[in-house]
Amino acid sequence: MSSQGVYDDIAENIAIVKDNIASSAIKSGRNPEDITLMAVTKTVDSDRINFALQSGISLIGENKVQEILKKSPELSITKQQIHMIGHLQRNKVNQVVPHVAMIQSVDSVRLAKEIAKKALALGENMPVLVQVNIGREENKSGFLAETLEEALFEMAEIEGIKIEGLMTIPPFVEKPEMARPYFSKMKALQVDIMAKKIDNISMNTLSMGMSMDYQQAILEGATLVRVGSSIFGKRN
Ligand SMILES: *Cc1c(COP(=O)(O)O)cnc(C)c1O
Repeated sequence: MSSQGVYDDIAENIAIVKDNIASSAIKSGRNPEDITLMAVTKTVDSDRINFALQSGISLIGENKVQEILKKSPELSITKQQIHMIGHLQRNKVNQVVPHVAMIQSVDSVRLAKEIAKKALALGENMPVLVQVNIGREENKSGFLAETLEEALFEMAEIEGIKIEGLMTIPPFVEKPEMARPYFSKMKALQVDIMAKKIDNISMNTLSMGMSMDYQQAILEGATLVRVGSSIFGKRN
């Protein structure tokens, strides 16, 4: 099992995903280098993640604090290469902040404040993305589009975080094409907010698109795609 041959599919999958990213970027008139590929490593063991890191992956995303704490010491990676992408409880903030370069899942002002408090205690500023519930789903976290602007003005005042953009998980749809209206709404929000030029807020990152629909997300303006199963295979 020490042979890397057992993980050849991962290397091949990464190459395919990168090709797809490049062609979607070119189709939408953008430079492929302007799109960041994140490998989503939830439930994936450290050996396979390390193999991916040797095969062209330089950023990973986890959705549970527990998994970040467990795997971080086993990975050939720096904290600069790990983002938290899942719903974060305020009582886990102190544990996760020292181990990640960004928290993509800020879904309340209270959470933003808690993150800032810990970052400041470490003498840092934590980069964050603000999560938007673009499909208005009851079971999903994130700000509704109409509450976003007010929340951003409030969070812009918080010392200890740096808001760098927006993140979303659109509703599940039968065909990837059907997700495009959600992605284009996200792009419109990004453009609207940029135009407001709020102090301390940059809107450079638009994190959207997963295995099923990252190509559609790129066509609508994603700058960071979060791909799990298309790289590592189906999760159990
Ligand atoms: C699991 C997950 C992904 C990746 O999902 P795949 O369909 O496996 O690509 C992306 N973003 C978040 C927030 C996730 O939890």
